[in-house]
Amino acid sequence: MRPVLRDRIGRLTDDDLPAYIYDLRALREHVHAIRAALPQGVELLYAAKANSDPRILQALAAHVDGFEVASGGELSHVRGLAPDTPLAFGGPGKTQAELAQALDAGAERLHIESEHELRLLTTLLGDRSADVLLRVNLPVDLGRVALAMGGHPSPFGMDPAQLDGCRELIASDPRIRLRGLHSHLASGLQAQAQLALIDQILTWGEGWAHDCGVDLAEVNVGGGMGVDYTHPHRVFDWSAFGAGLARFLARRPRLTLRIEPGRSVTVYCGWYVTEVLDIKSSRGETFAVLRGGTHHLRTPAAKQHDQPFEVISGDVWLRPWARPEARDEPVTLVGQLCTPKDVLARRVMVERLRVGDRVAFAMAGAYAWNIAHHAFLMHPHPTFHHLDDAEVSVGCGTYAHQMP
Ligand SMILES: *Cc1c(COP(=O)(O)O)cnc(C)c1O
Repeated sequence: MRPVLRDRIGRLTDDDLPAYIYDLRALREHVHAIRAALPQGVELLYAAKANSDPRILQALAAHVDGFEVASGGELSHVRGLAPDTPLAFGGPGKTQAELAQALDAGAERLHIESEHELRLLTTLLGDRSADVLLRVNLPVDLGRVALAMGGHPSPFGMDPAQLDGCRELIASDPRIRLRGLHSHLASGLQAQAQLALIDQILTWGEGWAHDCGVDLAEVNVGGGMGVDYTHPHRVFDWSAFGAGLARFLARRPRLTLRIEPGRSVTVYCGWYVTEVLDIKSSRGETFAVLRGGTHHLRTPAAKQHDQPFEVISGDVWLRPWARPEARDEPVTLVGQLCTPKDVLARRVMVERLRVGDRVAFAMAGAYAWNIAHHAFLMHPHPTFHHLDDAEVSVGCGTYAHQMP
């Protein structure tokens, strides 16, 4: 944790807790490093669903080529905050109203998920035009991945068998420009596995384009760049990834590659800070009950992992009885919900954890608050804070591409 962040957490009042803190400076440096690792010919979109916090989107806007949005809500939210940043509108199950909204908003790309969706689009165009990518669920072998959106029966994208029907429709409608293909197949791949998958997508896409005489100008290979919650310092190897993409593009000088990561962009900038309310031992296992829980930070429940954390001890103890504590032992950190699923980290060794200490969960910047069931049990919502010390210079100014 950066010292300024620790300091900021220390200055949160008890009334602020639980709190989310987003480190915007760290976010900017991170996305800048991602951008710098990508070769010419690769466009970087941020998938807004990972975290659509307004200040996060505004911080990212200067560093990305666009935002990927997947609902009418995201579309108007993102357009309102960053009116000049191009938008790609994707996602399954687009309503007619959402498609119309995307056209009205002038979304730069529409990711078409089925022939039916394409037909719906043609009824809404009027005298407007649209640039589309066809999202395809390719028959590739994904091996073991955290989340697979394709490569097997899936509601995402279209079967390759549907592509030709779409291509013929587009060929007969000059208002629709087919820019290429979209294929977001998996989440949680590290750089080499991700490159191997992209290699398969490109080879398949070029074969298809060649066979049907389509000019494949653009391929969006999706997001899903791996994030390692067990080893927070093992950041996705963007340099190796960028070098691999450069090799692909060297053989395809006219192709534009697009990527649209979400998690790997914002996950490290977010912290969920709370305090220990109680510590108890139950049949040989020690539990720390924290203010808040998975109704604020859903990630560990959704992904079934231990959320990494740091303890910030507070020395004030004014009660007349002994301060409950755990020492050099495994502790299970749970929230306030009346369900055994409300676990943030299970049997994790701590040196010392006391009632009243603060706990700062790292890697809480993606799929955390915005996927949580906020209404369950009607606890108060967390407060939100943004650390933006852009003017403060630290050390020699070089940024080691490693976080937190
Ligand atoms: C969710 C999603 C992404 C982003 O995935 P991450 O795992 O957050 O990088 C990108 N593209 C599409 C189509 C998605 O559904």
